[in-house]
Amino acid sequence: MNKRSTNVTWEDRCLTKEDYRRRNGHQSMLLWFTGLSGSGKSTLAHQVEEKLFEKGCYTYILDGDNVRHGLNGDLGFTETDRRENIRRIGEVAKLFIDAGVVVLAAFISPFREDRDRVRELFEPQEFIEIHVRCDLDICEQRDPKGLYRKARAGTLPDFTGIDSPYEEPLAPELTVDTGKLDVTDSVNTILRYLGERGLVAGNWNAAKVPDPDPQSQLSQPGLQL
Ligand code: ADP
Repeated sequence: MNKRSTNVTWEDRCLTKEDYRRRNGHQSMLLWFTGLSGSGKSTLAHQVEEKLFEKGCYTYILDGDNVRHGLNGDLGFTETDRRENIRRIGEVAKLFIDAGVVVLAAFISPFREDRDRVRELFEPQEFIEIHVRCDLDICEQRDPKGLYRKARAGTLPDFTGIDSPYEEPLAPELTVDTGKLDVTDSVNTILRYLGERGLVAGNWNAAKVPDPDPQSQLSQPGLQL
């Protein structure tokens, strides 16, 4: 990034990330869903968010299309623009993490270097890269937004997996194979990962998470800092 702002000083805040986390009763972190179009990033991010929300966590979704409507509406799909897209999302996510929120970001984010640059903005426990893995032919069969059809017809250039590369993560925190697992098992895999590491508490194997009891939430081990 070309830094053009000068005479800008960092304002120290009275409240720290730890203050927000203590108030919210849980860790803040960025769950970064990466994978081919149609692999299931949005589906999983939304369903995991719903479960965390039901548990009383402060959550927020950053989703590819939504971000491109506003904040990144000036960016296209060239390599430079894709890179800037991911950089801005990383910076926005960092603000949310500072505010004690669990952020779920669902972006193809095809380039390893871009994802690693986002990772570098965070402390180790804060960035959880989730590789939503699925073979291209299955993604193409699903084609939930009809984008593969357009890419194959030549009307959508630079489409990841067709005429633009996807670089798989080398050491993601978690891989979810959505070509083999159904949606419920995929969601539970992610929730179990978070639960086992004490990032959020609860018995995540249940098909339906019971309504949270506000009295007991803050005393659950996984929700403590
Ligand atoms: P992406 O955000 O990666 O482009 P979407 O979540 O929009 O993908 O679409 C994925 C499609 O695949 C949805 O129609 C979803 O129902 C289906 N699907 C099938 N199995 C799974 C799974 N295990 N996890 C997530 N989605 C799945």
